[in-house]
Amino acid sequence: MTDLSDLGEFGFIKKLKEKFGTNLPEGVEGIGDDCAVIPQSDSYSLLVTTDMLIENIHFLRKDISPKNLGYKSLAVNLSDIAAMGGLPEYAFLSVAFPANLNTAWLEEFAVGFQELANKYNVLLLGGDTNKSSNDIVVSVTVIGRVKNEFLKKRSAAQLGDVICVTDFLGDSAAGLQAILESLPRDSEIDYLIDRHYKPKPAVEEGLWLSEHPSVHAMMDVSDGIDSDLKRIMENSDCGVIVQVENIPISSTLEKMSRDYNFNSVVKAITGGEDYCLLLTIESSSFEQLKAQFQEKFGRPLYRIGTVTTKDNGLVYRDKGTALKMNANGYDHFKKR
Ligand code: ADP
Ligand code: MG
Repeated sequence: MTDLSDLGEFGFIKKLKEKFGTNLPEGVEGIGDDCAVIPQSDSYSLLVTTDMLIENIHFLRKDISPKNLGYKSLAVNLSDIAAMGGLPEYAFLSVAFPANLNTAWLEEFAVGFQELANKYNVLLLGGDTNKSSNDIVVSVTVIGRVKNEFLKKRSAAQLGDVICVTDFLGDSAAGLQAILESLPRDSEIDYLIDRHYKPKPAVEEGLWLSEHPSVHAMMDVSDGIDSDLKRIMENSDCGVIVQVENIPISSTLEKMSRDYNFNSVVKAITGGEDYCLLLTIESSSFEQLKAQFQEKFGRPLYRIGTVTTKDNGLVYRDKGTALKMNANGYDHFKKR
């Protein structure tokens, strides 16, 4: 008998999409992108996204501070709004907490949530509170808005587009490794752990990029680019070549990979939770957009590959030599 681990997270979502994703009203986008899109007028649409963090699956209570959990539960949702070029506006917070959580923990959780909400003027408008038997579960829903002309989808990649990311890859996964293996702390390990607990949703970058018609497809990097690129490939009916030597890796991650003997490129490709943006850009506009991005944000748009035809699939190349990737991105239910 097959079960969810055979179907996989993406297999289950695909089945839901087959059942519920057809005959939607004009302009409505349902299952399959970073947010649902609900048109409000000819000029703008609402974006809605929801994400859940579960104790012992997404975090360990003994390791994460309540403040960071509050922050991160909102950050992952803001990242999905950013991924479609939207401005986050309203949040709903649903929790299941065991009765023995102390009030100081609850207060700190709220402080972390509020820190990020205040930064982006996101208003918490409601939610739900329930008692759980043991574990902490936090589910946040965020509503944002986007001008229809600026909406960016996973399905808009075009043949020949340059593929970019907006930040280093793999730091968050390296931070998670440091947490799980209780590695000795120094300022560099602390930096990586901070990247894991306090991801910066690329809201300003997403809004800015969305205004450029040369930006075609966009999404956020939540599962690792090996997995996330496949979402763009499925939605845009294309293939992808990744130039492995161009993947942006922080010097801190490079150093940790030498100290602890792992492959930094594999970490960068398959590690999840970077929450930067992954986008495709009309190749003739790339250099100019890169220069403007650099001027605006003080860092580059990192060019990591090219959109190809579907039959090429997902290909990794290292200075011209084709590589085989064995490890897959994080898929919650797949047997490893
Ligand atoms: P992300 O990593 O960007 O948050 P997910 O991989 O969690 O996206 O989800 C992919 C898509 O599948 C999204 O459009 C999401 O709304 C949809 N989805 C995931 N789980 C469900 C579910 N249980 N019911 C309906 N839609 C779902
Ligand atoms: Mg996403």
